[in-house]
Amino acid sequence: GTVIEASHISQSFTSEKGNETTVLDDISFDLHEGEIVAILGRSGAGKSTFLRILAGLIPPSTGQVSYRDKELNGPNPGVALVFQTFALMPWLSVKDNVELGLEARGIPRAQREKMALEAIDAIGLDGFESAYPKELSGGMKQRIGIARALVLQPDALFMDEPFSALDVLTAENLRQEVLKLWNDNQSGIKSILIVTHNIEEAVQMADRVVVLGSHPGHLIAQVPVDLPRP
Ligand code: ADP
Ligand code: ADP
Repeated sequence: GTVIEASHISQSFTSEKGNETTVLDDISFDLHEGEIVAILGRSGAGKSTFLRILAGLIPPSTGQVSYRDKELNGPNPGVALVFQTFALMPWLSVKDNVELGLEARGIPRAQREKMALEAIDAIGLDGFESAYPKELSGGMKQRIGIARALVLQPDALFMDEPFSALDVLTAENLRQEVLKLWNDNQSGIKSILIVTHNIEEAVQMADRVVVLGSHPGHLIAQVPVDLPRP
């Protein structure tokens, strides 16, 4: 089935001088169950903007996004995000960072705790529940970011340059960890959308690579990846 459907998305920004720049121009795209899709493109091509529109964080200038056939009118309830620079709360422990989104959903404390510990285990952070982000390496910080997304039990996991801030070895370890999670199929995640400028990462992880071109923000290629995942 189709998890997210974006039709005829365009996005323009107006500068302070009043000049209008078109970042995305009439893009249609479907995200299906069971696939990992990579969005590849240079810096400034509009990848993050596109991800945020699909996540319902910004309304597109024109076009519409649906989640499970329901048109979005705010944050996409089927999506959880992982960010390049982790976006953790430094004053909260690992467990409290992971629980934060559940608190916002009004889930009772005991259940929050159980769900958080499961997500922490799933991404290999067990033993670090009481640590604070500043005590941990970049790879471990991003594991917190991933646990915080997993705990929301999203249909679609959106990752915006999730490994770009990590050294090559840590990035490779974490890519493998995410693929293990995907293959284990325990998390309930139906699809992954990953934004990257790293073509090797895109090919390694994705079933389909979508290339976003700058000038003026078209999908310039959609390529199925015919390789077994490692
Ligand atoms: P990418 O993720 O591919 O690097 P982005 O989506 O971050 O690209 O940005 C695409 C273009 O849109 C850039 O030129 C950026 O400066 C511009 N842009 C993004 N967000 C805004 C905004 N809120 N206001 C004005 N310009 C923006
Ligand atoms: P990765 O996240 O890919 O495993 P890291 O360099 O982040 O790579 O961490 C490697 C290992 O070192 C982790 O799996 C963890 O067991 C351990 N580790 C990382 N940070 C700490 C820390 N602050 N204290 C103790 N062990 C740590």
